[in-house]
Amino acid sequence: MLDLSFEAPKPKVIQGAAQDWELVIGLEVHAQVASNAKLFSGASTAFGAEPNSNVAFVDAAMPGMLPVINEFCVAQAVRTGLGLKADINLKSAFDRKNYFYPDLPQGYQISQLYHPIVGEGEVIVDMGPGIARRVRIERIHLEQDAGKSIHDMDPHMSFVDLNRTGVALMEIVSRPDIRGPEEAAAYVVKLRQIMRYLGTCDGNMQNGNLRADVNVSICKPGDYERYQETGDHSVLGTRCEIKNMNSMRFIQAAIEYEARRQIRIVEGGGAVEQETRLYDPDKGETRSMRSKEEAHDYRYFPCPDLLPLEIEQAWVDDIAGALPELPDEKKARFVSDFGITEYDASVLTAEAESAAFFEEVAAGRDGKMAANWVINELFGRLKKEDHDITESPVSAGQLGGILDLIAKGDISGKIAKDLFEIVYTEGGDPAEIVEARGMKQVTDTGAIEAEVDRIIAENPAQVEKAKVNPKLAGWFVGQVMKATGGKANPKAVNEIVAAKLGL
Ligand code: ADP
Ligand code: MG
Repeated sequence: MLDLSFEAPKPKVIQGAAQDWELVIGLEVHAQVASNAKLFSGASTAFGAEPNSNVAFVDAAMPGMLPVINEFCVAQAVRTGLGLKADINLKSAFDRKNYFYPDLPQGYQISQLYHPIVGEGEVIVDMGPGIARRVRIERIHLEQDAGKSIHDMDPHMSFVDLNRTGVALMEIVSRPDIRGPEEAAAYVVKLRQIMRYLGTCDGNMQNGNLRADVNVSICKPGDYERYQETGDHSVLGTRCEIKNMNSMRFIQAAIEYEARRQIRIVEGGGAVEQETRLYDPDKGETRSMRSKEEAHDYRYFPCPDLLPLEIEQAWVDDIAGALPELPDEKKARFVSDFGITEYDASVLTAEAESAAFFEEVAAGRDGKMAANWVINELFGRLKKEDHDITESPVSAGQLGGILDLIAKGDISGKIAKDLFEIVYTEGGDPAEIVEARGMKQVTDTGAIEAEVDRIIAENPAQVEKAKVNPKLAGWFVGQVMKATGGKANPKAVNEIVAAKLGL
């Protein structure tokens, strides 16, 4: 049985001047669907293309053009929903969200307000071994991305790049179940991890493929529990929404700043106004973008160009049947199958590729030792060169070969590290390298004894000292290791030194 049980973390508490406050956070994450074509056109979604080169007539809103739904994007949303253990709505529908912006030639965004494709689900957010927050997902809907306005290329003109116009986004809306800045970042990390496992979003935050609107409010201790019991939102504080965050670090800093700002207002006798704010990373503060009074009225209405979206249960079942093993299950299985710690299992399952690599190394070998070598030696070495596991010059087979040589007693752990470096930089078969370069461990006790005898004979003063202070035996062990180029079996050396010194 896989153990997926955990305890909830403590919510973050901020001390105000008058009393303690807790944070309540809900996220709306925009994830770009991994798809070669856009949501309603065949135009490419390739990043970094020449401006306005990936634009179909419908993306540019040429008169009379009609959107055609991309089945693959729908499947990706369904896959994501299933990965978040969510309800899949067999009937959903598209709505027009109307607003004017130069990089939105249609004058509206096609989205799903009233009938989203995915309903309620959940994400387990890991906060340390045995500690996790269950964050409920309210919905996921499909929508189009807008284009990009460029204001800093020319002093007199602005430009528009429509390459991104019409690219499929999934908006993943959480319930306000997140209770601190670290949890918010960990939630985004977990969502990203699940979607990367599923292959539904590459999670590249630098390219803007994953960005979050962060809703923050404060409440008194006990209020959140009342909300959970009754489902009554009104016991919570008024929230502010911080738009378009695409860095884990800034998400945390913005929440922290925003919570303290709200505490100052409330303790000063004022009231928090519901509004949209922007985070300024240079100043480390949030500032008002628009208040509720001046909020857009989007005049949502069903998109007349698209029929309601109906999918079949059998199609959903096919997608469900082909889902990969997901991070939570994989992590639990690694702990039970390989006897490794939950922490190590988390590190190894962070990316599907590293998990697969580890499994290949660990198969038929000591799991803890495999984990130790993959995490400390291989990941450590890759990190030095800013490489990821897919760029590893050492294959799972080669690393496994090194572990086999240690297990057989052919090489010591110390020599194994030298061997690893050789395989990493030069390649080759570990067993052949050990043979060719004479790296085999000396387990021949006769040879070790001769070495110990020589060192004892040459250092009578040290021998006398060691007889009084047995800790000095280590000095003799060191000398033997030095003389044998680190190849003597350390266990044998220790035993022989102790015996010869009469300790
Ligand atoms: P709206 O209908 O105005 O869009 P929603 O209820 O759909 O508002 O919530 C939008 C986002 O705000 C969700 O992610 C939700 O979790 C979050 N949210 C709602 N109430 C609060 C609150 N009191 N504090 C923090 N976040 C909240
Ligand atoms: Mg909403």
